[in-house]
Amino acid sequence: MDAKVLKKAYAKIDGYRDEMIALQTDLTAIPALAPVNAGDGESKKAAFFKGWLEKSKIFDKIDQFDSPDPEVPSGVRPNLVALMKGKSSARRVWVMGHLDIVPPGDLAKWTSDPYKVKVEGGKIFGRGVEDNQHGIVTPLFAAKALRELGEVPPYDVGLILVADEETGSKHGIQFLLEKHGNLFQKSDFIVVPDAGAPDGTMIEVAEKSIFWLKFETKGKQCHASTPAQGINAHRAAANLIVRLGKLYELYPQRNEVFDPPISTFEPTKKEANVPNINTIPGDDVFYLDMRILPELKVDDVYKTIGAMAKEIEKEFGVKILMDPAQREDAAPATPADAPVVKALSAAIKDVYNVKARPMGIGGGTVAAFFRRAGIGAVVWSKIDEVAHQPNEYTIIDNMVGDAKVFAHLFLQE
Ligand SMILES: [Zn+2]
Repeated sequence: MDAKVLKKAYAKIDGYRDEMIALQTDLTAIPALAPVNAGDGESKKAAFFKGWLEKSKIFDKIDQFDSPDPEVPSGVRPNLVALMKGKSSARRVWVMGHLDIVPPGDLAKWTSDPYKVKVEGGKIFGRGVEDNQHGIVTPLFAAKALRELGEVPPYDVGLILVADEETGSKHGIQFLLEKHGNLFQKSDFIVVPDAGAPDGTMIEVAEKSIFWLKFETKGKQCHASTPAQGINAHRAAANLIVRLGKLYELYPQRNEVFDPPISTFEPTKKEANVPNINTIPGDDVFYLDMRILPELKVDDVYKTIGAMAKEIEKEFGVKILMDPAQREDAAPATPADAPVVKALSAAIKDVYNVKARPMGIGGGTVAAFFRRAGIGAVVWSKIDEVAHQPNEYTIIDNMVGDAKVFAHLFLQE
């Protein structure tokens, strides 16, 4: 990489501070809420943004892909894909952000209007400024710097702006991968700046499977003074809970990209049974929250639990029904030494002088959709993680810094 070009790009980006704040201000003023949050979707925000992109001439090609949705007035949930041609298309460096936001919640908890950006103490405040406009503005201004320098990047650079991230991604990245999957190839770099750490060192590469299981134990209700006349469902369930603790011994595998580095199997919610003390409960309901390492098979764990429940049924004469309340099998992890991880780590080191760490989390990022499609994707940004909170903010220095990280990544040979 040409160090002189990089330096010029960094200097350009330093000069974009006010423009970044101005774009954040415009975007924040157009709330894009999903219909389940009483909103009208992303159409207005996408239209503004498309206009902004066209006027800026940063990208060579801007496409809009609409997912039909009768729930919103415009009838569609728009996704924008902007592409800057590089010297080669053998690899494309994509950054994906989402246009939608979550509602501000209790307005009394905000010290300013959530849809009017407030600049104070090196931060900007407003709903959406971190989640996910920070992740939209930063790659955008990195690309702008290259364009203004007349620099053609070694590989194509793309910006993906999706709809519907906050409420399931059906009209967003799922729609794009299903209907326009030809945009992507296995050699592509994909960065999703939608989570991160305040020091910028976390590169998320993997997630655990999430498995929530409901246990309904059926015994026979009777008076507490004559327990022999009934079957105590509560005692049987309590014994099952203790037995489920053995899962930690049966699945002791470790994976150090995760914190904690093990699978977890925790009994959590307990539904109320009888309202009075002198009745033996005939029914008992509790739940188990499991976060299972991606290298383990969820079905295998499920089978083991089934066998434990069978033992309890036999021992106590109860019937136990198991019902998955939620199950999301982890996508295959992006290898901790994947080229995208290496390139991004080098960029982070250059800009922030810190050593980034590939890490796994408890589950539920949109990068999983790419990983399931066989494309390595990472989640990274330097943010305080105040998404969905009142007085959501992002740090202006981090916007400038993250834009430089993307410029470095875009110039990676
Ligand atoms: Zn987000």
